[in-house]
Amino acid sequence: MAASPEKVVVIGAGMGGLSAAIRLAHAGLDVRVVDRAPVPGGKMRTMDSTAGPVDAGPTVMTLRPVFEELFDSVGARLGDYVTLHREEVLARHWWPDGSSLDLFADPQASADAVGAFAGPKARKEFEAFRRRAKRLFEAFDAPMMRAVTPSQSALTRHVMTHPWLIFDMAPHRTLAGSLGAQFSDPRLAQLFGRYATYVGGSPFQSPALLGLIWHAEAQGVWRVEGGMHQLARALEKLARDKGVTFSFGTRATRIEIQNGAAAAVHLEDGTRLPADRVVFNGDPAALGAGLMGEALRETLPRDATHPRSISAYVWSFAAQPHGPEMVHHNVFFCADPRKEFDPIAAGHMPEDPTLYICAQDRGAGRTPQGEERFEIIMNGPPVADGAEATDEEKETCRTRTFQTLARFGLTFDPRPGVQWLTTPRHFARLFPASEGSLYGRSPHGLTASLKRPTARLGLPGVYLAGGGAHPGAGIPMATLSGRHAAEAILTDLASTSMSHPTATRGGISTA
Ligand SMILES: Cc1cc2nc3c(=O)[nH]c(=O)nc-3n(C[C@H](O)[C@H](O)[C@H](O)COP(=O)(O)OP(=O)(O)OC[C@H]3O[C@@H](n4cnc5c(N)ncnc54)[C@H](O)[C@@H]3O)c2cc1C
Repeated sequence: MAASPEKVVVIGAGMGGLSAAIRLAHAGLDVRVVDRAPVPGGKMRTMDSTAGPVDAGPTVMTLRPVFEELFDSVGARLGDYVTLHREEVLARHWWPDGSSLDLFADPQASADAVGAFAGPKARKEFEAFRRRAKRLFEAFDAPMMRAVTPSQSALTRHVMTHPWLIFDMAPHRTLAGSLGAQFSDPRLAQLFGRYATYVGGSPFQSPALLGLIWHAEAQGVWRVEGGMHQLARALEKLARDKGVTFSFGTRATRIEIQNGAAAAVHLEDGTRLPADRVVFNGDPAALGAGLMGEALRETLPRDATHPRSISAYVWSFAAQPHGPEMVHHNVFFCADPRKEFDPIAAGHMPEDPTLYICAQDRGAGRTPQGEERFEIIMNGPPVADGAEATDEEKETCRTRTFQTLARFGLTFDPRPGVQWLTTPRHFARLFPASEGSLYGRSPHGLTASLKRPTARLGLPGVYLAGGGAHPGAGIPMATLSGRHAAEAILTDLASTSMSHPTATRGGISTA
């Protein structure tokens, strides 16, 4: 008689949790996902607006092959679950001096645009930067991002056998310092420095290595039909098709440890869910804060979760815009990036912010008439407590956001009220122990990416998945972290199955 399949409880239906759940269910495990939120997606959330649900989390989908691989690995097709459109214009950028620049999916078109924007020298510098970002991305993709447990010694060996990487990495430079040396036009250094915020860093404190993020964007940006949240819904549907069960609106209060290994997950309503394996998809800082029980408090060193990455003030609303012609992704830069990032480093809202706007209903050259949906993001500092933001803080944010945009000639009718704003303090309450930080541990410092916790917590039966774990934040990375957690579980299971055989079907692709 076959033993019953291993029971897995996944705490959190964010991208990392969903990705792990899908792979584990496909491999024949009995998987249950619990989430304190009423819907899947975690940070990939929406708010209601007069024009329908509007995204309030991630908006830029890159690295499509990561999602395709997830679906392929369980015998499904991404295109059967969600409709994606490739954007020709990656983003439109504006500066206070009146200049603007579009970057394109077609690298030649981007190089031409940079040449027209800042001259032939800038075009050459851009081409060199593009090649360097590609080299870095390709050099670190396999040994770092796709490795379940990257090791410093393996990476050092990798760099030693590819010595040109040392020049490309510019290990003693920050991203801003490196870009300042690569671009003679400070606007271009500012533009490419902004990619540090994709993983929650400041370009003035992040390593030059993060220049590789540009290569992820340059490979294509995808618009999700119906809004980004549909991607989470697609993963939820695939998970259900694979037999995963879900409990929403249910907070996990403790991971029970027996004989030094995971035994169950306790829920706030008193339910005890027996579990052979537990995947924790919340912020790993919650473990150190004791939110999953005393037994897990000491499982991670503090520098695995601290210092924290940046947070944001996020507007999600419907209105009619007047002013410059926007595309799907738009960036309105401040004059001096120091004025944005220095206040954030000091724990304050930036006085002169750079503002990113996702015009959710635009894309492929389409400009809607009348009211449309927008998400505006202003970077902000994390906060130590989750107390509600004061009315004054919200009004200050409103003034700074919409006065800044008005200087670019952009206004919204009606001008959104503060009920459409999510503040860092609000994020801190939505994601326990996160301190409002949206990307886990800060990426500042050359070894930051090696300090993040990996899938195996070091306590048998407990695993991590999500943007706070290796390989880091962003929806493709969080999705990869779910793959790492699933692979770690299946490997551990295989190594113990000699003594305790379990019934599993299917398998997991490690392509
Ligand atoms: C405003 C914003 C903009 C962003 N922009 C982009 C972008 O453009 N592109 C990009 O790639 N990334 C972007 N990101 C980052 C990206 O959204 C995240 O890195 C990714 O979604 C994190 O996924 P995750 O797996 O860590 O899960 P999370 O999204 O963090 O979800 C974790 C889930 O766990 C649940 N949970 C936690 N504790 C418990 C508990 N005790 N019991 C039950 N449930 C629990 C939470 O409710 C939550 O649903 C953005 C994020 C934000 C907030």
